Amino acid sequence: MGVAVSPFQIDSRVADFIDKPRKMLIDGKWVNAASGKTFPTYNPATGEVLAQIAEGDRADIDAAVKAARKAFDSGPWSRMTPSERGKLIWKLADLLDEHVEELATLETLDNGKALTIARAADVPLAADMFRYMAGWATKLEGTTIPISVPYTPGAQYLAYTLREPVGVIGQIIPWNFPLLMAAWKLGPALASGCTVVLKPAEQTPLSALRLGELILEAGFPDGVVNIVPGYGETAGAALAAHDAVDKVAFTGSTEVGKLIVHAATGNLKKVSLELGGKSPNVVFKDSDLDTAIAGSASAIFFNHGQCCCAGSRLYVERPVFDRVVDGVAAQAKKIKVGSGLEPETSMGPLVSEEQLQRVCNYLEIGMAEGAKAVSGGKKLGNKGYFVEPTVLVNTKESMKVVQEEIFGPVVAAIPFDDVEELMPRANDTVYGLAAGIWTKDISKAHKVAAGLRAGTVWINCYNIFDAALPFGGYKQSGWGREMGKDVLELYTQTKAVCTRL
Ligand code: NAP
Ligand code: MG
Repeated sequence: MGVAVSPFQIDSRVADFIDKPRKMLIDGKWVNAASGKTFPTYNPATGEVLAQIAEGDRADIDAAVKAARKAFDSGPWSRMTPSERGKLIWKLADLLDEHVEELATLETLDNGKALTIARAADVPLAADMFRYMAGWATKLEGTTIPISVPYTPGAQYLAYTLREPVGVIGQIIPWNFPLLMAAWKLGPALASGCTVVLKPAEQTPLSALRLGELILEAGFPDGVVNIVPGYGETAGAALAAHDAVDKVAFTGSTEVGKLIVHAATGNLKKVSLELGGKSPNVVFKDSDLDTAIAGSASAIFFNHGQCCCAGSRLYVERPVFDRVVDGVAAQAKKIKVGSGLEPETSMGPLVSEEQLQRVCNYLEIGMAEGAKAVSGGKKLGNKGYFVEPTVLVNTKESMKVVQEEIFGPVVAAIPFDDVEELMPRANDTVYGLAAGIWTKDISKAHKVAAGLRAGTVWINCYNIFDAALPFGGYKQSGWGREMGKDVLELYTQTKAVCTRL
C-alpha cells in the first residue's frame, strides 16, 4: 500500500525523463512557457511531486496555433501525399510498440493505474488506434453525383465531392487514459490531414510529452503536432476560444463540455465532445450468473471506475439480486489495491487528491441518503489517494449517487422486476454513453439494446473497445463519435465541385 517510489526502482529512461523539467512542443521545438512558469505533476500513489512541467497559457497556445496554422496552410504537411501521411502514422505506432515499457511506466507514475494494465491495455490500444487510422489516410474518398438541375434544360454537368481536412484542431483531453486519449484524438486528425494543438490534462501530462518526442522521431514535419501542457481554465480555455482554430475536440466532464461550446461561439468553430456517463449495467436472471458477476465487477472497477462508460448503475432482476450483489461485493473485496508499480496490484490510487475528495464526498452523501455499503465505502490508508472498491445497496433513482457521475470505484445496485418497468428507469439519466446487458435470451438482449438511449451497448461483455468500433454519447454524453470510420466525419469536411461540360 502506498509504496514509496524511488527513481532507482524504475527504468532509467523514465527516471531521466521525469528528472528534468519538461518543456512544451511548439513548431517542432521543445520550449519553456513564455511566462517561464512551471507546474508540478504528482505521483498519486504517494502524493509526492513527480516532475515539473512548463505551464502553457494564452501566449503559448497562440504560438502553437500559429505553428499549426502555418503547417496546415503552407507547410510540407499540406503537400504530403495521403500515403506518406499514413506511413508516418504507422511509424509512430511502431515507435509506441518499441517503447511499451517506458510509456506504461510513465502512465502508472503519473496516473496511478496498475502497470500491468497500462502495459496490456493503454499503450497497445494507443498503438492500435494509430495503425488503424494510418490505413484511413489513403481512403478518404468523395463521390461523383449525377445531377439534374431542372432550371438549366439541356445542360450537362460533372459533379463530385472532395473530403478535405477541417484544418487546425484544438484537442483537450482528460487524465483517465492519458496516452490512449491522445491517440484517439491525434490518430484521426493526422489521417485526415489536419494539424493539432493538444492540451493534456494537468494531472497527467507526462505520456503525451513523451509521445511528442516519438512524433518528432517518426519524422512529422514541424508544427503538425504541438503539445501545450497547462491548466484547463487558462491554456484549455484559450485553445477553445482561439479564432484561428477550426475545430475543438474535447473529452472530459459534461460541465466543462458546455463551457467549450460557449467558448467556440466566437468564430463558430466546429466542436466534438466526449463527456460523462452514468451507464446502466443490466443483469437478467437468465444470464450466466458467474460471468455476469465477474463482468459487472469489471464494468465498474476497471481503471478504478475512472471511465466515462463505467457501469455505475447495476440493475439486477429481483430473484437474483442478492446473489449478484454478494458476488460483485466478493470480487470487490478480492481486489488488491496498492501502488500501480507493484506487480500484484489490480487497482491503484485515484488520480488526485481532488478526485479522492470527490469520491469520498459522494460516499458520504450516499450513506446520508440511506445507501448501505456491502463492500468498501471509505478512503484507504494515509498516504496516496486510495479508496476502497465499493458496492452500494438500498439505492434508488432519486439519489445523487445514482444520478451523478462519481468517476470512482463505486457502483449503486438496484433491483428490477421486469423489462417494461426497467427501461424507463435505465434511461432515467441525462447521460447516454454506454450500457451493459447480461442474458442468454438473444431476442430479449437485442430488444433491450434497441430501447437503451446509449451510444454503446455491450451484450454479455463490458468495456470492449476497438479502433474500428465507434464510441460516443447520446444526450448529454456528447457530440460525435470517436474511432471507427465515423470519427473521420469529425475531421473532414465535404466540398462539392460542379463543372458545366
Ligand atoms: P475536466 O475538468 O472536464 O477536464 C478535462 C480536460 O478539460 C482537462 O484537460 C482540463 O484541464 C480541461 N479543462 C478544464 N476546464 C477547462 C476550460 N474551462 N476550458 C477548456 N478546457 C478545460 O475533468 P476533471 O476536472 O479532470 O474531472 C472532473 C470530472 O469530469 C470527473 O470526476 C468525471 O466525472 C469527469 N471526467 C470525465 C471524463 C470522460 O472521459 N468523459 C474524463 C475525465 C473526467 P486541466 O485538468 O488540465 O485543468
Ligand atoms: Mg500526476
